[in-house]
Amino acid sequence: MPFISAVSVSPGLCLGPVHVVRARLDAAPIWSIRAQEVEAEISRLDRAVESVTKVLERRRADVAAAVGERDAGILGVHQMILQDPGARAELDSAIRDERINAEGAVERLIGRLGETMGRLDGGSTRGYAADMTEPWRAVVSALSLSDKETTLQSAGKVVLAAAELTPEAVTFLPRERVLGVVTEAGGRFSHGAVLARSFGIPCVVGVSNLLARLEQNMQVLVDGDRGRIALEPDEAALTEFDERRASRDARLRVLGAHASRPAEMPGRGPIQVLANLESTRDVDTFDVAHCDGTGLLRTEFLYLERTVFPSEEEQFRMYRRLIDAMDGRPVTIRTLDIGGDKQLPYFRTPKESNPALGWRGMRVTLEWQDLLRVQLRALMRASGHGQVRLLLPMITSLDEVQAVHRVFEETRAQLAEQGYAVSDHIPVGVMIEVPSTLWILDDLFSEVDFISVGTNDLVQYLLAVDRDNVLVAGLYDPQHPAVIRALSAIAEAARRAGKSAAVCGEIASDEAMAVLLAGMGYDALSVNPTALPRLKFALSTVSRAEAEAALEAVLAARSADEVRMILGGLRENLDAALLRDAENETEIG
Ligand code: PEP
Ligand code: MG
Repeated sequence: MPFISAVSVSPGLCLGPVHVVRARLDAAPIWSIRAQEVEAEISRLDRAVESVTKVLERRRADVAAAVGERDAGILGVHQMILQDPGARAELDSAIRDERINAEGAVERLIGRLGETMGRLDGGSTRGYAADMTEPWRAVVSALSLSDKETTLQSAGKVVLAAAELTPEAVTFLPRERVLGVVTEAGGRFSHGAVLARSFGIPCVVGVSNLLARLEQNMQVLVDGDRGRIALEPDEAALTEFDERRASRDARLRVLGAHASRPAEMPGRGPIQVLANLESTRDVDTFDVAHCDGTGLLRTEFLYLERTVFPSEEEQFRMYRRLIDAMDGRPVTIRTLDIGGDKQLPYFRTPKESNPALGWRGMRVTLEWQDLLRVQLRALMRASGHGQVRLLLPMITSLDEVQAVHRVFEETRAQLAEQGYAVSDHIPVGVMIEVPSTLWILDDLFSEVDFISVGTNDLVQYLLAVDRDNVLVAGLYDPQHPAVIRALSAIAEAARRAGKSAAVCGEIASDEAMAVLLAGMGYDALSVNPTALPRLKFALSTVSRAEAEAALEAVLAARSADEVRMILGGLRENLDAALLRDAENETEIG
């Protein structure tokens, strides 16, 4: 069975039936169906058309009663559109003859109708085309909803497949039901990838024509270690899969055995190893003894998994739960960082042609200060129950930090008046992820207690490479000398100011890079929980002298390839050390 090679964005191996999901709010998934599934698919389409027809009838009757039959007419037309025999024959033929799913067939019909109507007489018929396709769009929604409900109700674990690696595609099902994720598009640093890694789910992207090759429920093997997949794997592939999984588990056991000890670099001392969390439920998926606290709670995911904004009380309870679970360790809560590829379904914002440079993070919450105030109130109330730190995303200028300070103090005063216990000391930090901040670090340090470098964004902005665009994925290179030198300059500025500096971007979970960051002087690294054991092993294995030698070489490097070579050497040494330990453990065991 040939493997299809692709790009790994999250390691691990898994095997299971595939489930194709809709990856974007405005796109239906298309997949192939088996001959024996044709009749069921036709009935599914019938049921969706019937349910939309009923909704239209109810709305028509309501409008007719309120304002008269004339205005209700369009809804009657919509009902007739759904009964059009020509359209229906086209759909049946797509399902029966081409064997594509009902959503795919309807989506194609919508495309054709839009084109035909659009051609009739240019721009002026656009409204008419939209009217003609609107009832069919409702059918696609009904189909996708029923598909999601059926999938949610069934119990099995699945490999999710989607066109794009969006956070929605990864979180389509509760994570305990997701064996792995495979997509046509997506990059290592897109938020979907970040989520897959933090869930510890193997994930492979860049499989061209994936959805056209898949049938719902087909067995798929995802090899996130080698960046490849196999459809309906044969005996040989399955045997290799079992062997590799057993050896992977053995290494993980060795790393796990050391993971509760502090990371102490020989000759340098301890380095805080913190966890990046997306949900307060994440604390149930790993051993908190493996980390020294939470370095980044991406609160937007608390908002993303809901249908309305969470209230102050709900947020307070979520933060409290995390603080309790962290058992005395610090918890860094980042304010809402929506925008870019993180859109809330219930907070529609204007379409932007350049969302990464648009209305994102602090830019949104400083404008919609109610959002910020609710979050600050919840976080401050939670600070009465443990060590809480506030982190601000997408900071570009000092003014923004000062504006947050004002809201912060007003909120504190308001809470005190209302009799809430708020900690006297809530350290405030900023994300260093927009290049402008590199030139105002000293000013920022005068206003904040700590910084945390968000390399996922810093790399995209420094190199002018969209972190979500597959076309330029090859240019998104955290090993670019400019990135290395910028990181070193930031650490140096923090040292001069006597302030704490962390790195919480994905770069820190690469163990060789983590060693370099420790060498630069960062005092904390924050990574997805699955990376904690390996990181602790690396930081406790390489000595300060080795780290500084590697750093010196890397800072002198003139190309990303040179940097890669030096990091590759470090990685090889670490692999060898891990293998030695694994063998020793086996002998002792
Ligand atoms: C980053 O940009 O590196 C970061 C940690 O934030 P996010 O990935 O959520 O944008
Ligand atoms: Mg960021």
